[in-house]
Amino acid sequence: MSTTEKKDPEAPADPLADLQRQFQDAMQHYNLGGLFSRPGADPAPADKPAPPPADPLRCIREFNHKPREIRDYLDRFVIQQAEAKKVLAVAICDHYNHARQCIATPTLREREYAKQNVVLLGPTGVGKTYLIRCISRLIGVPFVKSDATKVSETGYVGHDVEDLVRDLVKAAEGDVELAQYGIIYIDEIDKIAAAGNAGARDVSGRGVQVNLLKLMEDTDVSLQSQTDLLGQMEAIMQLQRSGKPPKRTINTRHILFIVSGAFDALGELVKKRLQAGAIGFAAAGRAARSDSEWLKKAGTADFIQAGFEPEFIGRLPVRVVCNGLTAADLEQIMLSAEDSILTQYRRDFAGYGIDFSLTREAIAAIASRADEERTGARGLMTVMERIFRNFKFELPSTAVKSLEASTDTIADPGGALAALLRANLHAQAGLLKKEFAAFAERFRNEHGLELVFEESAINALADLSLQKDRTVRAICEEKFRDFQHGLKLIANNTGQTRFVITDAMLAAPDRELSQWIVASFKAAEGKPASAGPPGPA
Ligand code: ADP
Repeated sequence: MSTTEKKDPEAPADPLADLQRQFQDAMQHYNLGGLFSRPGADPAPADKPAPPPADPLRCIREFNHKPREIRDYLDRFVIQQAEAKKVLAVAICDHYNHARQCIATPTLREREYAKQNVVLLGPTGVGKTYLIRCISRLIGVPFVKSDATKVSETGYVGHDVEDLVRDLVKAAEGDVELAQYGIIYIDEIDKIAAAGNAGARDVSGRGVQVNLLKLMEDTDVSLQSQTDLLGQMEAIMQLQRSGKPPKRTINTRHILFIVSGAFDALGELVKKRLQAGAIGFAAAGRAARSDSEWLKKAGTADFIQAGFEPEFIGRLPVRVVCNGLTAADLEQIMLSAEDSILTQYRRDFAGYGIDFSLTREAIAAIASRADEERTGARGLMTVMERIFRNFKFELPSTAVKSLEASTDTIADPGGALAALLRANLHAQAGLLKKEFAAFAERFRNEHGLELVFEESAINALADLSLQKDRTVRAICEEKFRDFQHGLKLIANNTGQTRFVITDAMLAAPDRELSQWIVASFKAAEGKPASAGPPGPA
C-alpha cells in the first residue's frame, strides 16, 4: 500500500493497456484463448445491445425498515441480547436511511455525517457476528468478516486492511456499487490494542488502527491489490469483453464497520477503576457484577487506556455489550431459535431420509454440557458433534428411519447406537438382500451371467458385512473378484448362464469354482461329472 510515487521513465503511459497487450501476446503465444473464454460466450458482445441492467442498489433505495421490525426479525434467530438488538436496530436504520437519502439527493453527500460504526463487546459465541449476519441478510447487503489479528499493517504478512474492502466486492459477486453499502466485521479487535497501558502500545497494532481509521472515513480503495494477479487478469478480460475499463476503485463512505472482541483486559481495567473508587459495602456489591456489567461501564478514556488510538475509538460511536449465555439460554436456542444447530441436524439427517429429534430432557442435558465448554452457543455445536458423529456415519447405510435421542443417548452415545443397530438387524437383513440383488443385477449387466444367492449364503454374507464393517458391495466384489472368467468358461462348455451361490461356495470360492470348471470340461467331453456347478433351478 505504498503511497510514494516515483516517476519511472520507462513506465508505460497506461499500465492497464500495456498489461492487456502483454496478456494478449501471451495468450496467442501459448494458444491459451480457449482457457478463458466461457462456453457459448459471444466473441463480440459490444455489438449487441446490452440487457437493461438490474438495479443493484434497490435494497438501499427502497430501505424502509423501522428499528422495531429489525429487532423482531433478530428475535427469530438470536436468543437474548435484547439491548444489543435495540442499539443495532437503531444504528442500522440510521445508517441505511442516510445512505438512501444520499442516493436520492447527491448533494447530501457533501454534508458532514457521523457514521454509525459499531463496537460489539462480549464473550465468544454469544451472537455478536450472528446478529450482524442476520441484519445483512435482512437488508440484502454484502457482509465480510475477518480477524484483526490476520490483518497486518503492511499487507506483506497476512492481509492488508484494504483487502477487506475488496472482499466485499467478492461477497457482492463483483458488484462494486452494492459493495459500497456493505458491512465489514472485524473480530478480535482488542488483540490489536496493546496490553494495559498506552506506553507499551504495540507498533503494528497501532499501524493497523491507523489504516482502519482511513477506511472508516471516506476514501477510495483500488479494486486491484498489487499482489492480486488473478484480479488483474480479470480486469483485463473485462476490458476485452466490454471495451470499457472496469471501475477501478471502491468508495468506503457508506460501508458500515463493526468491530468486536471479548475485551477482557478492558473489563479488568474498568473493574479496577470502579472498585478503587468504592469502599466497604458498596465495593463488595460491585464485586459480584459479571464481566459484561463492567464492560457496560467502559468510557472512551478506558478504551484509550486499554491501548486504542483516540481517533480510532472516536470513529466507533455505537458501543454495545452482548451478555454471556447461561445453560437456560442455550436450551432456549435449541428449542426456539430458527436455524439453530438442532434445525441443521434435522436437515442433515433428513438428507438420508432419517427423522431426527431430541427429547426435552436430552435438550436440557446437551445445553448443560455445552455450558461447561465456556464457548457460548458454539459449545452446542461441539457437544452435538461429539454425541452424534458416529450416528451420522452409521445410520445413513442402515434401514433406520428415525432417531429420537434421549438422555440415555446423551449419556452413552456408543451404547445407544449399538442398541439401535441391533434393534434394526431384521430390517437391516431386508436392506442387505436388496444390496445382493443390486450386486447380482450389475454382474448380469456386465457379464451376461446370472448369480442366484441361496438364503443361507445371503445370511452368511450379511453376517460378514456386519462383522467386517464393510458394505455388501465391497464384500461381494472381494469374494467374486474375476469370477466371470471361470463362469464364462463353464458357459462356453455347457451353455449354462445361471449359477447358484451356496454356503460351500462362499467358504472356499476359488476351490469351488475350479471344481465347477473341471466338471464343465468333462461334461463337454461327454464324460459323467462327479461334481458340477448347480445348474438352472
Ligand atoms: P460471536 O459472539 O463470537 O461472534 P457467533 O455470533 O459467531 O459468536 O456465534 C456462533 C454461532 O452460535 C452462531 O452462528 C449461532 O448459530 C450460534 N449463536 C450464538 N449466539 C446465539 C444466540 N444468542 N442465539 C442463537 N444462536 C446463537
